[in-house]
Amino acid sequence: MKNETSATTKSPRVFTSLDAWTVFRKSLDSKSVGFVPTMGALHEGHGSLLERARAENDYVVLSIYVNPTQFNDPKDLEKYPRTLESDVAIAAKAGVDFVIAPTYAQMYPDQYRYKVTENDLSTKLCGAHRPGHFDGVLTVVMKLFNLVRADRAYFGEKDYQQLELIRGMAAAFFMQTQVLACPTVREADGLAMSSRNLNLDSASRTQAPAFAAALKSQSTVEAARETLSKNGFDVDYVEDIGNRRYGAVRIGGVRLIDNVEL
Ligand code: AMP
Repeated sequence: MKNETSATTKSPRVFTSLDAWTVFRKSLDSKSVGFVPTMGALHEGHGSLLERARAENDYVVLSIYVNPTQFNDPKDLEKYPRTLESDVAIAAKAGVDFVIAPTYAQMYPDQYRYKVTENDLSTKLCGAHRPGHFDGVLTVVMKLFNLVRADRAYFGEKDYQQLELIRGMAAAFFMQTQVLACPTVREADGLAMSSRNLNLDSASRTQAPAFAAALKSQSTVEAARETLSKNGFDVDYVEDIGNRRYGAVRIGGVRLIDNVEL
């Protein structure tokens, strides 16, 4: 373990070139590496993943890449917040050693001719509403896992379906990176932290906590859907699978997802 205190913040080394990263990665071979893949616009939810990675590994790698192949809606991709400079400052405070921030040309030398597909869970919930979304997610995570070769990678329960699919992919392909889950971090009013929350106007932001509240408080999915509609949300879905309730809604042009344990 590295023994740095949080008082000494050192800027992470930022790699925009994957070739440079790949050469450099070989120098870390005898150390343990923890990896946190993100699309940036970092918040305390990402922070909790970084904190755990920092505690459990010699080195922490953060990727910041807004992955176009997982966006089915071009407008959503266009307005996704991009805040690289402040993200690197947050990463420094979190004790991140290396940031990987590649371009599309670097990540997709194949122009996305090759992809990873799952054909069961990925067709449900968000998969049913966002065609191709999970192909994009799994493909970019496979690429990143191969590039980073981490011992451990950290994912949030906020995106529970994604977490399950990534766990399944890692197992199916005998990937050498352990997939670890971290609990959802919420604002004081219960809204799950999300980079997309930056796009909520003030009226929608005021309304947004009613989403998690409805998922938790209503006894049936029908009642939750009805409550959400009455509160001004467009409901994509509310579904119970196993002991978990999943939901996706739109408010003020922003799509929010969340899930709660029943
Ligand atoms: P994103 O940048 O939204 O793609 O998220 C990157 C990682 O952070 C994913 O593993 C997410 O599940 C996780 N994450 C995002 N929001 C939260 C949150 N509120 N609490 C915990 N983890 C989160």
